[in-house]
Amino acid sequence: RRGWIEVVCGSMFSGKTEELIRRLNRAKIARQHVEIFKPGLDTRYHAQDVVSHNANSIRSTPIQLPEEMLLLASSCDVVGVDEAQFFDASLVEVCTQLANHGKRVIVAGLDMDYLGQPFGPMPVLMAVAEYVTKVHAVCVCCGEIASYSFRIAASESKILLGETDSYEARCRGCFLEGQKGK
Ligand code: ADP
Ligand code: MG
Repeated sequence: RRGWIEVVCGSMFSGKTEELIRRLNRAKIARQHVEIFKPGLDTRYHAQDVVSHNANSIRSTPIQLPEEMLLLASSCDVVGVDEAQFFDASLVEVCTQLANHGKRVIVAGLDMDYLGQPFGPMPVLMAVAEYVTKVHAVCVCCGEIASYSFRIAASESKILLGETDSYEARCRGCFLEGQKGK
């Protein structure tokens, strides 16, 4: 039996981690063997756990390279990956292999960076996945549905780990307004 790939994407604060944790907890209830991975560089709340903004959490394994999952996930049924945008393109190959070998692979990550550009391996993952769910935050300026992560902090590096002090969820209109003011 083959597996499949599910992608959960959206802006910051859109509930990607919450949705990932929800799906993995349900898999556990179904007595599936679950493993969760995240990039080693994401240590914002906890070195080991995947933690959502409303403080749900699940035990995870930080890894440097997607290839590490091939060995570490070899005996499980369901593989979860959070903050997938921080991995390189090899994540696509690894997720494909895991799915080909019968695993359900659930990948959560930012679909766009703070400039509104597709982020890392996410667009290709969305193309090869059987299921893609785009979740939305609430625009902090106007209350509409938000798809963009607007950077308040001044840094121009693509990766700036941060929280409500450095990013806010914005709709298209308020994101464009903010970009104009920069
Ligand atoms: P993500 O992994 O997509 O960054 P999380 O699952 O960690 O999101 O957090 C989602 C939670 O963030 C929501 O349930 C809510 O409590 C909180 N939150 C904070 N700011 C916002 C916002 N602007 N829109 C929606 N949820 C927000
Ligand atoms: Mg998250």
